[in-house]
Amino acid sequence: MSVLIVGSTALDSIKTPNAENPRLLGGSASHAAVAASFFGPVKLVGIVGNDFPKKYLQLYRKHRIDLSGLQVQEGKTFHWAGEYEVNMNNRRTLLTELGVFEKFTPHLPDTHKKSPFVLLANIAPSLQHHVLDQMSRPKFVVADTMDLWLNIALEDLLRLLKRVDGFVLNDSEAHQLTKEDNVFAAMRKIHKLGPKYVIIKKGSHGSVLSSPQGFFICPAYPLHSVKDPTGAGDSFVGGMMGYLANARGPLEANLRRGMIHGSVVASFCCEGFGLKRTTGVKRAAIDQRVKELEQLTRF
Ligand code: AMP
Repeated sequence: MSVLIVGSTALDSIKTPNAENPRLLGGSASHAAVAASFFGPVKLVGIVGNDFPKKYLQLYRKHRIDLSGLQVQEGKTFHWAGEYEVNMNNRRTLLTELGVFEKFTPHLPDTHKKSPFVLLANIAPSLQHHVLDQMSRPKFVVADTMDLWLNIALEDLLRLLKRVDGFVLNDSEAHQLTKEDNVFAAMRKIHKLGPKYVIIKKGSHGSVLSSPQGFFICPAYPLHSVKDPTGAGDSFVGGMMGYLANARGPLEANLRRGMIHGSVVASFCCEGFGLKRTTGVKRAAIDQRVKELEQLTRF
């Protein structure tokens, strides 16, 4: 089954202590869509300007991503620039040029309205609402977010949490939302806000799921060096949703396996700038790392 992904489609300029790469293909939806495409069909909803390089459209197509929900408008593509500190964990935003994103209203083609699996990747919560308003009874909806929306659109976000099945956020965002330092206590509070499934990401320390069946601890794949972690969170959730949409059997077990697959795709994402490494990966390499993670966590 296909997964519908809405989010940002961007040009990312990324600076690390060792290198600088301008105007890479980026955005939450781009990372998530490529990650999901390893497991099945993907429909992308987003917006780009007429400056968006053709080679990036070709890259989406190489991954067989359905672009009928991608708007191309006169103007500039959303441009984000960020810089990492030496530890590669701390990042600061250098620039956010909204361009065509400023006037973005996601319109779903009729073919998209019945998608059973929906990923509301990081984007303004009002736009995430707008997508849900157009859907007819999706089976499983997951939302992602970022600190910016907790700061400037908290009310919209809280309303959204009542409409989704799953919510994915990182540990610092969970702290910001709940004022809890303890991840498990934070999850309990987030359940009370609506979502049945809560996933907290902890960067290179993996992620935790809290669901009606209890907790699941998902490891990160051990990497010895990280080139660029931009989009790792989006790759994780995209891979997870792509896997889930195409798996048979009970949802909870598939969600757990989906997290492992997402974690592996995120590891590839960290090994190259932007989407450079991820777009060169074959499914067999993903399956190999999944096996390694299984070995690493069996006892
Ligand atoms: P992550 O590393 O998972 O936090 O995601 C990084 C991606 O988020 C980059 O590819 C950016 O283009 C995208 N991004 C940065 N700021 C925003 C924003 N305000 N809204 C949507 N996407 C953004």
